[in-house]
Amino acid sequence: MEQPAAKPWTGIALAILACAALAIMDEKPWFALAILLIWIGSLWLKFDEPPSMETASGEAGLTRDTMAELIEHSGTPLLLTRRDRVTIANRAARDVLGPHILGQDVRIALRHPEAIALAEHDEPASATVYNLARRRDVWLVSRKPFNGDYAVIDLTDQSAGANVGRAHTDFVANASHELRTPLASIIGYVESLIDEPGDESLRARFHQTILREAKRLQQLVDDLLSLSRVEAGEHDLPSEHIDLAPLVLLAARDAAGPARADRIDFALEDTTIQGDVPQLEQAVRNVVDNALKYGADDGRVRISLTSEGEAAELTVADQGDGIAPDHLPHLTRRFYRVDPGRSRASGGTGLGLALVKHIVERHRGRLDIASEHGAGTTVTIRLPIARGDNSASHDTVTQL
Ligand code: ADP
Repeated sequence: MEQPAAKPWTGIALAILACAALAIMDEKPWFALAILLIWIGSLWLKFDEPPSMETASGEAGLTRDTMAELIEHSGTPLLLTRRDRVTIANRAARDVLGPHILGQDVRIALRHPEAIALAEHDEPASATVYNLARRRDVWLVSRKPFNGDYAVIDLTDQSAGANVGRAHTDFVANASHELRTPLASIIGYVESLIDEPGDESLRARFHQTILREAKRLQQLVDDLLSLSRVEAGEHDLPSEHIDLAPLVLLAARDAAGPARADRIDFALEDTTIQGDVPQLEQAVRNVVDNALKYGADDGRVRISLTSEGEAAELTVADQGDGIAPDHLPHLTRRFYRVDPGRSRASGGTGLGLALVKHIVERHRGRLDIASEHGAGTTVTIRLPIARGDNSASHDTVTQL
């Protein structure tokens, strides 16, 4: 609470005494009286002056500069305005709105109609502002007026929450689309069979198509469930110690099946890691299946497992057409496909590499995809090697 300033009684008493002495010595009382009036008047005026910002702050020495210094390193963008002009902007605010905002009219600094409208309120008010600093960012701008001319404006970044919401909406839309396509196909063929059963061979063909589409649906649902399971457990480091080489051998042969197994060359070193067996098998199956699917027809696929330093390194290299560089950063996004027709024709769900990425992240590992257009693709999975004895503990694995 602001303390009222003490009235200048001592000064007034001093003025009366001095002027009385002057009147006695000078013998011109009207002159002494005039001096007394001016003296007391000036003391009174000084007493009546509105408190400066310094005293209004309630703390001696809290000037504009010290206030600016106090908020300079706050992570929240903060502005102080006086008569709607920016007098203080901390570093976070200058980063978001640009260094030029100091001294600028706050309405020009914030530019957005919702934020500009805040300046018209006499009460604290806030507004959500989109695309303030970058495309698709979301900020909550709050303004609190004080002492008539002044206002504090703070900005809260809400972009992360909005991104999660947007990703969730996109995912539901994509998943619905992926599920609807085989479903529509199954319904169409069953309706045709009911309306016009046709001859034996036509029926057999329709049954084959229905079975294929139903299996595609099943694969999609399986992948979606696996993805949500891996995501749910992403923060628990698997504790089981496993020999990676036999696991890779079995999972790769499983992915290839008898028809494609002889296209794979193995070079596997013994390596022990801490891992989740079903998840690692799934990751190997997905990467090897891709190499066989998108590699050259009858082209070789080389799988190698080495351990160097603190990491086990699994590489799967094919001799296919490779992937153009602009697609590489997006391959692990759900439902992202370079060639959707080819992916669907070979039974792909577009979720394989997204699953691999989440599995590798759960194992505190790294996934890299290198590809040269026309010269094949190499997928590398690095996993931390388990050290010491077999006692499962979180600190026996190194973060890569
Ligand atoms: P999909 O089920 O479509 O195979 P993935 O998530 O496993 O989905 O892979 C995403 C896309 O990345 C694939 O559709 C394909 O276009 C591309 N891709 C993955 N692996 C390879 C590879 N070894 N060679 C060429 N393209 C690949």
